[in-house]
Amino acid sequence: MDIRLAQRIAQLPPYLFAEIDRAKKEVRARGVDLIDLGIGDPDTPTFPHIVRKMQEAAENPAYHRYPSYEGLPAFRQSVARWYRSRFGVALDPDTEVVSLIGSKEGIAHISLAFTDPGDVNLVPSPGYPVYNIGTLFAGGTPYFLPLTRESGFLPDLDAIPNDVAKRAKLLFLNYPNNPTAAVAGREFYERVVAFARRHNVIVCHDAAYSEIYFGGPPMSFLEVDGAKDVGIEFHSLSKTYNMTGWRIGFAVGNAGVIGGLGKIKTNVDSGLFEAIQIAGIEALEGDQAPQAALREMYRARRDVLIGGLRSAGFDVVAPEATFYVWIPVPAPHTSSAFAKLLLEKVGVVATPGNGFGEAGEGYVRMTLCLPEGRLQEAVERIRGAKLF
Ligand SMILES: *Cc1c(COP(=O)(O)O)cnc(C)c1O
Repeated sequence: MDIRLAQRIAQLPPYLFAEIDRAKKEVRARGVDLIDLGIGDPDTPTFPHIVRKMQEAAENPAYHRYPSYEGLPAFRQSVARWYRSRFGVALDPDTEVVSLIGSKEGIAHISLAFTDPGDVNLVPSPGYPVYNIGTLFAGGTPYFLPLTRESGFLPDLDAIPNDVAKRAKLLFLNYPNNPTAAVAGREFYERVVAFARRHNVIVCHDAAYSEIYFGGPPMSFLEVDGAKDVGIEFHSLSKTYNMTGWRIGFAVGNAGVIGGLGKIKTNVDSGLFEAIQIAGIEALEGDQAPQAALREMYRARRDVLIGGLRSAGFDVVAPEATFYVWIPVPAPHTSSAFAKLLLEKVGVVATPGNGFGEAGEGYVRMTLCLPEGRLQEAVERIRGAKLF
């Protein structure tokens, strides 16, 4: 039989990490002690009080049946209370909140609800790859918004041609940002709301890193006047509470947009295991002290990595949020050539920036998801190798 993939798979952009994955295997096979700063996945466990709540909930037969696709009322109410206390944003838990099987699930599905073939989605570059892939799966056309250091890694909305803006359905944004670690403020979000109004574009703001910060707490897009008229915000418990393996997130905001996403979900999945939602309530509203400790842990790691990279001659900005460091590659290297050099010369894995989109060329991304001692070891190796 001739097994042929659908066009939507065949058209996917080339997987740009294949080369580095292959090189990683090769170097590891040589017995090199690799320091993998490529992985954006917390290395410390879910907080114990959340795990205990899950153990208890898993024993309750009430939670063993099909969940509702939109989430337990108690979970959605908890999300609404958390939004009010954290951001001062009021949400109707019945119509303005939907649970997600990790925020990636919602980000991947939202285009199916709103983007028709021929429509355009506005997608940041570099960016989390799912905005682009979800657009392509829906038959839409991505229009990439370059994020540059000069503009603080915020997209220039005025540079979007009128005919593109006219065809645009969704505008994806993500602050604090993966991979650049940039943070956005009120003034930018106000411009976003005005742009969305003017062109009738739905804003999808991904706030997965809102709780991983080292300065003041980042704001929600929904704090800005009129934001709820034009968009939604995606949230995740993954990075905030070390829960990447659990698959729990949510989307909040405009009821029409949340309802559209819900329409896809009722037809594709049957929601999120209710015991996980009970644990999610514990995460959002239980003891928050471990979270403050988590931030301090990342801050200490950041200081080690940034200090070390600077003393090795890198021109690198210390992130105010996220667990990423976005490093300009020394000339004349490309992103992938420099990632390869790091790997082969010092056994340090960094992700080439162009893997997050063309505008990521000229950078590599390192993560803070390894203990301080390993980061120290990485910077010592880099300093010792005189890479440039
Ligand atoms: C990690 C991440 C997510 C997704 O997390 P889930 O585990 O699916 O909730 C979403 N957006 C960005 C930018 C991320 O880095």
